[in-house]
Amino acid sequence: MSLSSWKARIEDLLYPRRCPVCDRPVRPFGALVCRDCEAVPEKITGHTCARCGRPVGARGEYCPDCGRIPHAYDRGGAVFSYRSVSAGLYRFKYGGRQEYADWYGHLMALRLRDLVRAGALPRPDFLVPVPLSSRRLKKRGYNQALLLARAMSRETGIPLKTDVLARVRDTLPMKDMPLPDRQKNLERAFIVPGNDVRLKSIMLIDDIYTMGTTVDACAEVLRKAGAQTVCFMALAIGESRLC
Ligand SMILES: [Zn+2]
Ligand SMILES: [Zn+2]
Repeated sequence: MSLSSWKARIEDLLYPRRCPVCDRPVRPFGALVCRDCEAVPEKITGHTCARCGRPVGARGEYCPDCGRIPHAYDRGGAVFSYRSVSAGLYRFKYGGRQEYADWYGHLMALRLRDLVRAGALPRPDFLVPVPLSSRRLKKRGYNQALLLARAMSRETGIPLKTDVLARVRDTLPMKDMPLPDRQKNLERAFIVPGNDVRLKSIMLIDDIYTMGTTVDACAEVLRKAGAQTVCFMALAIGESRLC
């Protein structure tokens, strides 16, 4: 065993990796998720909205939200419905469980591969994590979207770009905000500082997609800067709000 893998092993013994599902030390040792927990959160399969990728049952091309909200992005997809991973996502975001990103990012990479193979998404030139404001970054200590994008990039070989999109305005948390307030909240929140996105196919990476307001705000500035397509991949997607 090499020195670095011994080091990783000792670190694992001192600070055991936690399971993204049950939050106990992962069994078997060395895995990203417990064997018994792996299949617990329900993954999105079957017929999905042609825009946002949320499950829509057998009927309909679009979910109720996408039927009514004009989106600036092209298409997107997610691994889980929000309900099935909300507890783990909360610990990942607010409880310092950064190691969850390895399993989450692995699943996002697999989902992306499947959706690209099925022709539902283009293979992107870059993965771009949705940036946090510097105030929130300072408070949380890390950007959960960046951790996911980094894990996906490692697995897919698609380059990660963190300097093509910046958040220049602090915004309010939007959990229970209605759509018009969400849009207003994100006005002029993002900028594209350079011209690296011209004619590129961009994939935005975020942890949760709710109504798409954040992804739309990012897509709008990326398109203005010349991006050819802007899609997204989220770990989890909420149910339609506009049913
Ligand atoms: Zn577990
Ligand atoms: Zn939709």
